[in-house]
Amino acid sequence: MPVASQKRQSAKREKFDQKLLTNWDKQFIWHPFTQMSDWEKEDILVIESGKGSYLKDVNGKRYLDGVSSLWCNVHGHRIKDLDQAVKSQLTRVAHSTFLGLSNVPAILLSKKLIEIMPEELTRVFYSDSGSEAVEISLKIAYQYWQHKGEKTRKKFLRLTNAYHGDTIGSVSVGGMDLFHEIYKPLLFDSVEVKAPYRYRDAFIGGEEEYTNDCIERLENVLNQHKNEICAFIMEPLVQGAAGMILQPPGYLAAVRQITKKYDILLILDEVATGFGRTGKMFACEHESVSPDIMCVAKGLTGGYLPLAATFATEEIYRAFLGKYEDAKTFFHGHTYTANPLACAVALANIEYFEKENVLQNLQPKIKILCEGLENFRELKHVGDIRQCGFMVGIELVKGKKDKTPYEMKEKIGIRVIQKARSLGVILRPLGNVIILMPPLGITVVELRKLLRVTYQSIRFVTEG
Ligand SMILES: *Cc1c(COP(=O)(O)O)cnc(C)c1O
Repeated sequence: MPVASQKRQSAKREKFDQKLLTNWDKQFIWHPFTQMSDWEKEDILVIESGKGSYLKDVNGKRYLDGVSSLWCNVHGHRIKDLDQAVKSQLTRVAHSTFLGLSNVPAILLSKKLIEIMPEELTRVFYSDSGSEAVEISLKIAYQYWQHKGEKTRKKFLRLTNAYHGDTIGSVSVGGMDLFHEIYKPLLFDSVEVKAPYRYRDAFIGGEEEYTNDCIERLENVLNQHKNEICAFIMEPLVQGAAGMILQPPGYLAAVRQITKKYDILLILDEVATGFGRTGKMFACEHESVSPDIMCVAKGLTGGYLPLAATFATEEIYRAFLGKYEDAKTFFHGHTYTANPLACAVALANIEYFEKENVLQNLQPKIKILCEGLENFRELKHVGDIRQCGFMVGIELVKGKKDKTPYEMKEKIGIRVIQKARSLGVILRPLGNVIILMPPLGITVVELRKLLRVTYQSIRFVTEG
């Protein structure tokens, strides 16, 4: 577009009335994971645009996007290549069904994805959200064993504190009581293993001993239930929504060995950890693990459009082949499966990683983040600091010595992020854990600002 007409367009751009929009929001909308009685009373932020690591509200105030718009934005907002991918696909077609038809961007994306996935994953199944990618992984794993004639394998092994999404199936393999307790009567039965959580485990000993201890717990449960388990599902390296709880080194690799030994499938949920967030393209690469099934979503489109994918090995895929009347088909699909706009931008997202050396450029920033977080240890109410690449959890405690948690009604996390917001940074806490998850494309200057404001906000709220 010529510059002159671009200018005319932006000059013509509507001015939004913040007050009116706020009123309509409070009158008509029910927000996710939000206590609406608080929301109705609060000043709310209405985002109008974004650029790079910043979002701008309808009043024109800019905020640093410190949690990548809930962990999905990757390179920043309004990245030219990604914008362009959506625009050019729009000149062709916005959507056509994937049930009985294919489409160009989905084919090109699939080829690219299989190239960058762990070697044994050779097939991709699309959906629209992380929760669905998980649902699909569960149905595939279950059905695989049914086709194999091992009909007793009906249960999933899951970790405490796990989060795999909000649909009934994904909640069934979740383990966060705050979110999941009330739905328990609706959920299917699964088998629980205690997840690693070094800060809150009474375990005394070195790192390696801790890893072994965690693996022993897993093996004990497996021994009791081996013939009824079809798969073990876990978030590799980091349990994100639980508050960025880290697994000790070697845990994932040991899990892979054990699941092989007991012949159960390993499902890795890389919805949060995928696409560079841990410093490598996928978290499982840190321990050279190739799962049987893998789920991705959040970062897949660079944070542009809803798209998710579930990957399977050729062995699993082949178990679903047969005659039409054998009904071995995987009977699952969504109206918007493999939406061409979403697939086009996902492909541009992956190409951008390569073109801009994103992962290489990320390494020094991970180091700066790590060094910057060191100062936080001196704060009186910072109990634990956990970091894996660009995923950070800062656990706030009332008493540092005995690790006493803040009570829910103190809303400590919420108060900290409100302070940060007044200082121009958007964060979202998980209970008493302050989360930092900046876009990979954040600049060093912006990263330092994120650290500075987070530090100030924690100190202001917890130390008065
Ligand atoms: C966010 C998340 C999900 C759910 O993804 P949605 O797109 O929100 O449905 C599943 N698993 C993990 C690990 C996540 O972080």
